[in-house]
Amino acid sequence: MAETYDVDLFVIGGGSGGVRAARIAAGHGAKVLLAEEFRMGGTCVIRGCVPKKLYVLASRFARDFEESRGFGWKPGSASFDWQRLVGAKEAEITRLEGLYAKGQASAGVEVVKSRAVIEGPHTVRLLADSRVIRAKNILIATGGRPNLDRSIPGIENVVTSNEVFDLEEFPKSIVIAGGGYIALEFAGIFRLLGAEVTVLYRGAQVLRGFDQDLRDGLISAYEKAGVRFILNDTFARIDRTEAGLVGKTKAGLSLAADQILFAIGRSPNIEGLGLEKAGVALAKDGAIAVDSASATNISGIFAVGDVTNRVNLTPVAIREGHALADTLFGGKPWSVDYAHIPTAVFTTPELGTVGLTEAEAREKFEIVDIYKTSFRAIKATLSGSEDRVMMKIVVDGTTDRVLGVHILGEGAGEMIQLLGIPLRMGATKADFDATMAVHPTASEELVTMRTRTARYSRS
Ligand code: FAD
Ligand code: NDP
Repeated sequence: MAETYDVDLFVIGGGSGGVRAARIAAGHGAKVLLAEEFRMGGTCVIRGCVPKKLYVLASRFARDFEESRGFGWKPGSASFDWQRLVGAKEAEITRLEGLYAKGQASAGVEVVKSRAVIEGPHTVRLLADSRVIRAKNILIATGGRPNLDRSIPGIENVVTSNEVFDLEEFPKSIVIAGGGYIALEFAGIFRLLGAEVTVLYRGAQVLRGFDQDLRDGLISAYEKAGVRFILNDTFARIDRTEAGLVGKTKAGLSLAADQILFAIGRSPNIEGLGLEKAGVALAKDGAIAVDSASATNISGIFAVGDVTNRVNLTPVAIREGHALADTLFGGKPWSVDYAHIPTAVFTTPELGTVGLTEAEAREKFEIVDIYKTSFRAIKATLSGSEDRVMMKIVVDGTTDRVLGVHILGEGAGEMIQLLGIPLRMGATKADFDATMAVHPTASEELVTMRTRTARYSRS
C-alpha cells in the first residue's frame, strides 16, 4: 500500500529560501506547511539586509548635510535620534513581516509559528503544539547564526548582529571584531552616526577575498573618516567595568568601549534540528551537505540557503528555494548557476563586485589585462569630499572577455547589479567600448576606459 502523508512539503524556516520554496511549491499545487520559530521573513528581513540598509541610509545623511554647504546650503544644526531610527526600522520590518505572512497565506501555504524538529526521514514535530506531521518532502531552510568565540572570558558582554540593531542607547564608542561584510558595514554605520569606531581584525588586511584595489581604497577611505584598524590581533578577554566594556587583546592592548560587536562569521543553524535521527549528512564545515539539486543524502530531505553554506546571500537562497520547488512540483527541473554572482558591501563608500578579482584571474588565465581608473565624482568637486571612485575591469587578454568588474564609490551596488548581466552573457571589453556613455555619470567610465593599465602574462 502506498504511504500517506499529511503534506507534500514541510518547510522548516520562514526566511529567504524557505518562503520562496513554499510559495512556488503551493503555486504548483503542492500541499505545503511552513514552520517559523521566530519572525516571518528570516534574517534578511528581520535582522539582516533590510534593517542594515535602512541604517546605512540613515548614516549617510550625516555626510549629505555637511557636503550640501559646497552647493550653497546652510544646513541648520542637525541632531540624530537613535531610538527614533530603531522605532522606524521596527515599524518597517513589522510591516514586511506581515506581508510575508500574507503572501504565504494567499499562496495557500499553512504557516505555523513554531520550532520544528525532524524525527525521521518523513516526520517532523511542531514543538508549539507537539503535532507530528508526516511529510513527503522536507525542506531545511533554517539559515545561519552569528559565531561567538566562547573561549574568550567575558564573551557574554558582547553583542552580535542579532542584537546590534536594537541597542537601547547609541554607543559613543564601539569596537567591532571581524573584518568581513558585517564588520565593515557596521563600522561605516556607527562612524557616520558619530561613534568612535575601532575594527579589530585577526589578519593583515580586512575584506579577504575581495579585489586588492577595492580593499586598499575602502580602508583608506575609512581611515580618513576616522575608523581605527587594529590588525593581526584578537580579543583575549572582555570585562564589564563601571566605565563600560574593556577588551584586552592577545597583543596586550586594552580597548575601552560602550559596546563590542562580534562579526566573525556565521554558522549553519542545525543544532537540535534532529538531523541525526533522519541520518542527514553534514559537510566538513558543519553545513548540510547537498548536491546541485539541493538534495541531501536522505531521499525526500532537501536544504537551501545559509544552512548549506554555499553562497550566503539572500538572492541565492531565494533562487535555490525556487529551483527546488519547480523541480519537485512544477515538472521543470533546473539548478542554480553560481557563476557571476554580483555582490555589494554597503559600506560608505560602497563596494560592488562581480566575477573574478585580478588575483583570481591571474591564477586562472594566461594573459590578463587590467583597466583601472580612480577619480573624484562630480559631486565631490563642490562638496569638497576627498572620496575617490575606483573602477577596475579585469579582462582575459586572449579572448577579450570581461572576467570581473570591481567598483568602489557611491552607487556601486546599483551598478554591479546591472554589470552582472553583460558578464553572464560573456561580454568582451570591445562590447563595453562600443557602448555609448551616459554623461555626466560615474558609470560612464566603465565604457570609456580605453587605455590598459597593466597586462600580466604567465609565460
Ligand atoms: P534565514 O533568512 O536565516 O531564515 C531562516 C529562518 O529559519 C529564520 O527565520 C529562523 O528563525 C528559522 N528557523 C531556524 N531553525 C528553525 C526551526 N528548527 N524551526 C522553525 N524555524 C526555524 N544578504 C544579502 O544578499 N544582502 C545583504 O545586504 C545582506 N545583509 C546581511 C546583513 C546581516 C547583518 C546579516 C546577518 C546577513 C545579511 N545577508 C545579506 C545574508 C542574508 O541575510 C542571508 O543569506 C539570508 O537571510 C539566508 O536566507 P535563508 O533562508 O537561508 O535563512
Ligand atoms: P564574513 O565571512 O564576511 O567575515 C567574517 C570575518 O570574521 C572575517 O574577517 C574573518 O577573518 C573573521 N573571523 C572568522 N573567524 C574568526 C575568529 N575566530 N576570530 C576572529 N575573527 C574571525 O562574515 P560576516 O559575519 O561578516 O557575514 C556573514 C555572511 O553574511 C557574509 O559572508 C555574507 O555572505 C553575508 N552578508 C552579506 C552582506 C551583503 O551582501 N552586503 C552583508 C552582511 C552579511 P578571515 O578573513 O581571516 O577569515
